[in-house]
Amino acid sequence: MNQQKALLEDSKNYLWLPFTQMTDYERDPLIIESGEGIKLKDIDGKEYLDGYSSLWLNVHGHRKKEIDDAIKKQLDAISHSTLLGAANVPAIQLAKKLEQITPKNLKRTFYSDSGAESVEIAIKMAYQYWQNKGFKKKTKFVTLSNGYHGDTVGAISVGAVDLYHRVYGSLMFESIKAPFPLVYRSGKKNPDAIRDHALAELREIFQSRHEEIAGITMESIIQGAGGMNIMPKGYLKGVELLCKEYDILLIIDEVATGFGRTGKMFAVEHEDVQPDLMTIAKGITGGYLPVAATMTTEEIYDAFHGEYEEMKTFFHGHSYTGNQLGCAAALANLEIYEKENLIEQVQKKIAIVKEGLDELKDLEYVGDIRQLGLMCGIELVRDNITNEPFPWKERVGYRSTLKMRELGMLTRPLGDIIVFMPPLASTEEELKQMISIMKQAIEETCKEMAGVGN
Ligand code: PMP
Repeated sequence: MNQQKALLEDSKNYLWLPFTQMTDYERDPLIIESGEGIKLKDIDGKEYLDGYSSLWLNVHGHRKKEIDDAIKKQLDAISHSTLLGAANVPAIQLAKKLEQITPKNLKRTFYSDSGAESVEIAIKMAYQYWQNKGFKKKTKFVTLSNGYHGDTVGAISVGAVDLYHRVYGSLMFESIKAPFPLVYRSGKKNPDAIRDHALAELREIFQSRHEEIAGITMESIIQGAGGMNIMPKGYLKGVELLCKEYDILLIIDEVATGFGRTGKMFAVEHEDVQPDLMTIAKGITGGYLPVAATMTTEEIYDAFHGEYEEMKTFFHGHSYTGNQLGCAAALANLEIYEKENLIEQVQKKIAIVKEGLDELKDLEYVGDIRQLGLMCGIELVRDNITNEPFPWKERVGYRSTLKMRELGMLTRPLGDIIVFMPPLASTEEELKQMISIMKQAIEETCKEMAGVGN
């Protein structure tokens, strides 16, 4: 057996891939061996454009010299020592940098290793903040429909994507669901009216239950895994004002939207919102190593200060939290943002993508295209006049992405929504190439499937 064949067999025999039906993987296995720029190469030498930024996190492409060098340099000092009770050099330097680039009320960095953990931490911090302050009844969280915050039990408890979360129903703690101001398929055309309606419903919840609500957990300006849903203008600002009015903590999840993904360093900047807690991960290391953080204000931090026997300590910490290699990679990553003026550079790319996606709008099977910065969703439908969806069992989104893979591009769908989240460093030519691949794959797949399942 040659080496590639052996690896394929071993991957099927020993691995269990996350968020993957293994029957799909066994049918169409893929093993990535290397990457350069925005291209990934599999064990057979076939190259793919990284259309999902290796799950929404790659920034500068793979093997960026400055980040590679920073990690190698850090290796010469130390790879890891615990942050429990002892700081380390790059963790301090990164926390200082994060204070400078996040909204101005956020001062403290609490590290973890994944987006879901950063959300777990935000929830526990918000809960304990009120406990420490003596507001013992403030224990509940409000969440928005279709919200997604990761896969751990706390994170799914404040999530609301039925398909992913239903099965774990009795495992989750209960949160209070508020409607998301969904524009597509709302039956109403006016986003302002949709916004006002959703804010009025939220006000009602806050008004009647604020004494028991610790915080609201939500994504920033755009929901990711819940369907690439963009909030109408002014909605997030409206939530911020309601939180202030009713003394409810605003917990903003910037795991997917942070680090330039939406055209601003953080999506809250679109509406000049200052959350009480903000979660960041993914792009923080440029997509290199697992580092996440929960940022918060001095006021929240102060509520945990005291002598040990006062029991105000935040009892949370993971073994690899604040890992030196990860923090060194993050520092090098953020230096590149400054050196390359990345946020400004990305504006041109956003315009190129907009122009390209506009050409897909009239395709027979495209119901809606939603784009915020370089975070895009293309919703496929059987009929773009009535917006009738394809039967979900036909998996048109999944089939389309398999076709894209054949054509040399990787992404993962959300149901029948094609996710397009290219690395921020993608060139004009690469962006155009990916859009052209998506167009061909969507046309071919949808045509094939249009008659099925009638
Ligand atoms: N929050 C949001 C908004 C996300 O999109 C994700 C992951 N896609 C997470 C949290 C979870 O992050 P992680 O996969 O690093 O746990």
